[in-house]
Amino acid sequence: MNLLMSHKNVVVMGVANKWSIAWGIAKKFSQEGARVLFTYYGDKSLKSIQKLVEEENLQNCDYFSCDVTSDENIEETFSQIKEKYKSIHGVVHSIAHANKDELQGHYYNTSRDGYLMAQNISAYSFVAVAKQAQSMMPEGGCLTTLSYLGGERVVKNYNVMGVAKAALESSVQYLAHDLGERQIRVNAISAGPVKTLAAKGVSGFNDLANAFVEKSPMKRMVTIEEIANTALFLGSSMGTGVTGEVIHVDCGYFILGY
Ligand code: NAD
Repeated sequence: MNLLMSHKNVVVMGVANKWSIAWGIAKKFSQEGARVLFTYYGDKSLKSIQKLVEEENLQNCDYFSCDVTSDENIEETFSQIKEKYKSIHGVVHSIAHANKDELQGHYYNTSRDGYLMAQNISAYSFVAVAKQAQSMMPEGGCLTTLSYLGGERVVKNYNVMGVAKAALESSVQYLAHDLGERQIRVNAISAGPVKTLAAKGVSGFNDLANAFVEKSPMKRMVTIEEIANTALFLGSSMGTGVTGEVIHVDCGYFILGY
């Protein structure tokens, strides 16, 4: 059977549990024939991913530990992948973190440490990952990250994470410029709100989700499968003319001015 991702190696970073956006994306790539190389953060995530892979009977998966706060660790992870699989065709970066107590109240109360941590884990990590991944993409490929509207507009309580997403989206453009000639494409998916572990950290998330359903042109939440379909489009032969983009997968919410 001719599948969209046959004979492709795709690194998926950021599955914590079955609600993770990255898990929906990994399933989609795997169903389309990709070998999915999961990176995990901590043994709890590893166990959770392995259980999910077994339950869904996904074939050809492998697992590599990676803490994105360490350049040495990222380098080591990608060199292990290189040793085993030689080259890769895609990376999905679905990682973010900020102090819960800074995802509420006034943005001006953000601490220096909290600001740097959010940038480090949620934005700089994509740059460091791109540096390692590009050297393993001789046939070109695609790097995709996950963003949110709070990087472009003010979303109440999103605060320091919004500023990190702005840096992430700008990095997408600079990386796309760096890597375009080698047919390595770099894009972001700006997803509508999804109830995940990371989302629970944002104060008032349920109110935000309810307002989203009420106001979005399509009057509903976006599904993880819709986000995964867009990641597949970007990461497959269907998306080869697209780079430097932030694609909104949010039932049209981003067009609103009220
Ligand atoms: P999630 O909690 O399932 O995923 C976040 C992941 O980040 C986890 O797997 C966690 O282990 C990983 N992570 C945190 N610190 C790390 C570190 N130091 N090293 C390696 N990994 C680390 O939540 P999610 O909602 O699936 O988030 C995935 C991405 O999607 C994030 O970038 C998030 O901002 C973005 N996003 C989420 C929503 C939403 O509403 N859930 C909307 C738009 C964008």
